[in-house]
Amino acid sequence: MAGIYLHVPFCHAKCAYCDFYSVARPDYAEIYASAVEREFALRNIELDGQPVRTLYFGGGTPSILPAHIFTRLARMLRTEEVDEFTVEANPEDIDDDRIAAWLNEGVNRVSIGVQSLDNAELKAINRRHSAGDALRAIARLQKACISNISGDLIYGLPGQTSESWRASVRGLAVSGVTHISAYCLSYEEGTLLTRKRDRGDITEASDEQIEEYYSILCDELRRSGFEHYEISNFALPGKRSRHNSAYWRSTPYLGLGPGAHSLTASGLRRFNPSDLRGYIKSEGNIVTDDPETETDRINDLIMIRLRTAEGIEKACLPERYMDEITDSAARWLKRGQLAENGTHLYIPEKSWLMSDAIIRDLMIY
Ligand code: SF4
Repeated sequence: MAGIYLHVPFCHAKCAYCDFYSVARPDYAEIYASAVEREFALRNIELDGQPVRTLYFGGGTPSILPAHIFTRLARMLRTEEVDEFTVEANPEDIDDDRIAAWLNEGVNRVSIGVQSLDNAELKAINRRHSAGDALRAIARLQKACISNISGDLIYGLPGQTSESWRASVRGLAVSGVTHISAYCLSYEEGTLLTRKRDRGDITEASDEQIEEYYSILCDELRRSGFEHYEISNFALPGKRSRHNSAYWRSTPYLGLGPGAHSLTASGLRRFNPSDLRGYIKSEGNIVTDDPETETDRINDLIMIRLRTAEGIEKACLPERYMDEITDSAARWLKRGQLAENGTHLYIPEKSWLMSDAIIRDLMIY
């Protein structure tokens, strides 16, 4: 079993907090699609014939692609074996033409960048849509029978309060989405938001506020029937993201497009530099190996799996590192910030906000 991820590196404009690789050049979409076709032809063998079960168009803003270019790429990448096909979308792009093209090509899951249901908060981070646009986009997808919908939210936004955050979480939970991903705002170097904070124009949320927002998030979504299955991800029963869950289980995936990462069937990590012009010039042939040592591989496992509700299976940790890991784990187990059952070590939900410190401590050096 394998997955395919396509990175679509175009956005209409840069959001104030974003440091993902994207460029405001949607006019390059046609020539980008030709480079993706060439890359796929060259690299398809990396999956070693394993059936592709999940297809994910992420970005950037995949919903920016005109319907005919989306169709061209989807027809190349989608096979009969794909059972989850996700497209990331911004609310302002969701129109009848795009929905028709997505349905025609088998899209059965849409992930929408909602971020907040408070218009002042959306404005503060340069989002181009309003709360009403996001809710109307969700209703439009449902009406078109795309019922598997995920919404992204951000906490710690400038001007956000406990009340406005609770209203966003509640509003999204009852909007018809089946999945919610919620991320803490981070101030990345070089972003407009970081410059504003450094100038004193906005104030960063305190650790105490972030703790409160996280607790509101977990409480509200539990009450609404969502399972908290990964530190930032919540799903109604049966609606977990299969693509991301496979990634957390180290299932091979082929990452296409500038900035995409891959894990080959033989266990090699590879990545495409974040460089649209270089990608187009080389006709998609710019992939670079990112070989891991055994220590890197184990630390990756610890980092990825301890962020999930299931945690890490002790049997997948090599025997020779067990003493070191058990020593570090003992301190956290004693404080109840780490737990174990017969087979797994896991971080209980109440300690997920401090998971970075626990994970750092369990890593081997
Ligand atoms: S739309 Fe998404 S990828 Fe594009 S700038 Fe905004 S947050 Fe970043």
